[in-house]
Amino acid sequence: MTIEISESNTQQDTERNSSLVVDAIGEGIIKDYERLITEFGLKPLHPLIEKLPSEKRHRFMTRRIMFGHIDFEPVLEKILKNEPFYIMTGIKPSGEYHIGSFTTCLEVIYYQQLNGKVFFCIADFESYAVNGISFSKAREFAIDNLADIIALGLDPSPEKTYIYRQSTEPIVLQYGMIFSNHLTLNTLFATYGQKDHLGDYNAAMIQAADILLPQIKEGPKPTVVPVGADQAPHARITRDLSRKKRFQDALKLKLPSFTFHLLLQGLDGSEKMSKRNPMSYFSMNEAEKEIITKIRNAFTGGRVTREEQRRLGGRPEICRVFNLFKLLMEPSDKALKDREQRCRSGELLCGPCKKDLIEATLQFRKEHLEKKAQALEIAEKIMKETEKKEPKV
Ligand code: SF4
Repeated sequence: MTIEISESNTQQDTERNSSLVVDAIGEGIIKDYERLITEFGLKPLHPLIEKLPSEKRHRFMTRRIMFGHIDFEPVLEKILKNEPFYIMTGIKPSGEYHIGSFTTCLEVIYYQQLNGKVFFCIADFESYAVNGISFSKAREFAIDNLADIIALGLDPSPEKTYIYRQSTEPIVLQYGMIFSNHLTLNTLFATYGQKDHLGDYNAAMIQAADILLPQIKEGPKPTVVPVGADQAPHARITRDLSRKKRFQDALKLKLPSFTFHLLLQGLDGSEKMSKRNPMSYFSMNEAEKEIITKIRNAFTGGRVTREEQRRLGGRPEICRVFNLFKLLMEPSDKALKDREQRCRSGELLCGPCKKDLIEATLQFRKEHLEKKAQALEIAEKIMKETEKKEPKV
């Protein structure tokens, strides 16, 4: 396939640059992350990472994509001793699994390879409550999403991963109900805002039960929950619940640990990749043509003209193309650094840079879809086990 891209940015890119750089994408987001650290008790992750031998560090750690944590020390200790721990994660089956979700998945796979057991929640109750998606439709999305996740490298064997659906897992339904008795409405409103349905709050309580499920089901052990930066308030609520005397006496829960990563910003210049905004992301299911169009139109840190870019250099820190290389498409730190330097010096222009990204993405997609085709059968088998108890709505 021939990929043709002009060498400089379009006028449209530049206009978006000037209006967005200063607020949401640049300083705004960094300030928000600082606020998370001061208001929600997050600590910077990098001092702990230095304790890990280099072969045990994920590139998201060295690239500061994983930037913060709450109480990661107990899990770190297990990793250093090569002892088992739990990893809690999941998906909300409400659509295709897009690249914005890859960060969490790659972290889960990393922790799994370090001797963690994964508890994988298919949050169909949440997709019903929040998105109005029927349980049978959620099952279809879940099969496709699971196949993506297995293709990315998750080992789904039962000794390494427990996969369940919220709607058919009695422990999370029971404890979701129990937890709802231990939070005031004021706390819920302050954390999640005013919602139209009680179901939204129920979904949050069930998510708290999801996070504590590994310990309720298999006994106390350090648990890490890798999440995006937007999950800090929920992390705090779950830790507050788990430290309550009633639950400590009965279950001896260890307070769950959280690691936080930067949210992947929308390709179109928006703050966050969102299913509501199809130009902000792509999935590996999308046709090559659509992916190429989205990358060609991606918001960059380039300048108005080629001459200006050669003179002033680009700004990779706000560039969505660079962001995708950093997250997914450039495994080598050295090559990433080199791209950054060539961008800043003005040697590299946005057209060729986008062309590189398209080539890397299409190659990644090709290999991913081959693995996914093989994983679909496994995903279907896993979901079949949960069907008998599915709600009929
Ligand atoms: S990283 Fe690439 S696309 Fe982004 S500003 Fe630099 S040259 Fe342009």
